[in-house]
Amino acid sequence: MSKLSVDLKKIISHSKEYGYIFPSSEIYDGLSACYDYGPFGVELKRNIKDYWWRSMVKSRLDVVGLDSSIFMHPGIWKASGHVDAFNDPLIDNKDSKKRYRADQLIESYIEKLNSKIEKEVKKAHKRFGDKFDKDQFLQTSVRAQDYLNTITKTTKLMNQYLIEEDYGSLKKLIEEIGIVCPVSGTKNWTDIRKFNLMFSTKIGSVADQATDLYLRPETAQGIFVNFLNVQKTARMKVPFGIAQIGKAFRNEIIARQFIFRMREFEQMEMQFFVRPGEEMKWFDYWKKERIKWHKKIGFSENVLKFHDHENLAHYANAATDIEFKYPFGFKELEGIHSRTDFDLRSHEKHTNKKLQYFDSELGESYTPYVIETSIGLDRMFLAVLCQSYTEELVKENTRIVLKIPPILAPIKVAILPLLKKDNLPEKSKDIYNKLNNFFSCYYEEKDSIGKRYRRQDALGTPFCVTVDHETLDNNSVTLRNRDTMDQVRISIDDLIIQLNNKLSF
Ligand code: ATP
Repeated sequence: MSKLSVDLKKIISHSKEYGYIFPSSEIYDGLSACYDYGPFGVELKRNIKDYWWRSMVKSRLDVVGLDSSIFMHPGIWKASGHVDAFNDPLIDNKDSKKRYRADQLIESYIEKLNSKIEKEVKKAHKRFGDKFDKDQFLQTSVRAQDYLNTITKTTKLMNQYLIEEDYGSLKKLIEEIGIVCPVSGTKNWTDIRKFNLMFSTKIGSVADQATDLYLRPETAQGIFVNFLNVQKTARMKVPFGIAQIGKAFRNEIIARQFIFRMREFEQMEMQFFVRPGEEMKWFDYWKKERIKWHKKIGFSENVLKFHDHENLAHYANAATDIEFKYPFGFKELEGIHSRTDFDLRSHEKHTNKKLQYFDSELGESYTPYVIETSIGLDRMFLAVLCQSYTEELVKENTRIVLKIPPILAPIKVAILPLLKKDNLPEKSKDIYNKLNNFFSCYYEEKDSIGKRYRRQDALGTPFCVTVDHETLDNNSVTLRNRDTMDQVRISIDDLIIQLNNKLSF
């Protein structure tokens, strides 16, 4: 068997065909960057949430949960800095009329230079064979050095101009390095403008008395403004965390790459409150914990990496991203930020209310510092799909199989009568009723058994139980493994124990 290469288009069409993800409002020709999760998608999403909640909240004594509202007092977004600073630099190409994020145009240019370096490395590796030393080559190759210097210089300038919001210089940089519009191929750019990503709306029935509100762009602020409510009612002692899963909304300038960048998405966030001065210790701790979480689900070393931020957000004193290797390159899956005491202090200032904690061990009150872990549920969903989607050649036919980690699979076991007669459906339904109390099960009798196996492979079901005439004689069934396609005969009485062993961590 060989695994063929995967691209995003295949994942998108597979997701639609097998009830994982549909474009939103499809019969009205869709709504850009919005998606609906179908019958199997909703289960996978739920299982990812459970996996996160179980490890971040249920299995820990020092983290508790919260579910705060999406609408919050508009003052919160002033205090958090989102009204003034949650902006992206927007630029248009005058010929194609296409709109871009200026920083993303420059990042794509840097990515292209990185691929050129990789190409040089590959060529040299071929030439020198086993004796090839990549570090030495990068230091001595004039061409590679040229590319590396351009990358360093461009990155530094871009970060500087973004921090200073010096959009005139940012535009000049785009022109100097010769970035062209991917659609028109021209350098005919407009000036760069600031674009706030928050969606606004109104609350109240009478227009002139209505209050302007924002749809929350992150779930974190709901945690900060409830800091003392949670700390007191759950009797938490610093260090402790508050976790929340919920929707967030951002009016992204360009939303592409399927569910990677949406305008309505879900976040799984945890804010961990620590003593001032201890934040770096906890930042390192959460980096290790979070990468362990990703590896435990089966993501391998070569699809994950840390990317430390140089261009820190206004509230952070350290930040890193966990990047996943999507079909379109390494991109942010999760952010881990040391947010200092910025948010709590800012809410104190705007409300004149203390958000302090009395540390009885130290005998003093302080505003805690915060470490945040924030992962996009939809980006995690896409990462799981990308990692799982496999095309294999089996006896010269292509088998498409979603090798979803069993713990996350929407259906754990499919119960399939070999034929639609001879009492096999009735026996199968008995087994279904028995197993469905323990695992999420599926019953199907339509089509040949081979076709049904292929459909369950494509849905990512880890096990199929097949009921045949022998079942009626000796109470045994066939248990088929999705990944190996091995089939074993097993007594119905042993099914629950066997499956439990295979389906739990
Ligand atoms: P990016 O740089 O990709 O825009 P970000 O740094 O703005 O992301 P954060 O503000 O750190 O993202 O948000 C935390 C997490 O929320 C991200 O790691 C990502 O997984 C998720 N996320 C952010 N924006 C989106 C979006 N538009 N669609 C889907 N998920 C998102």
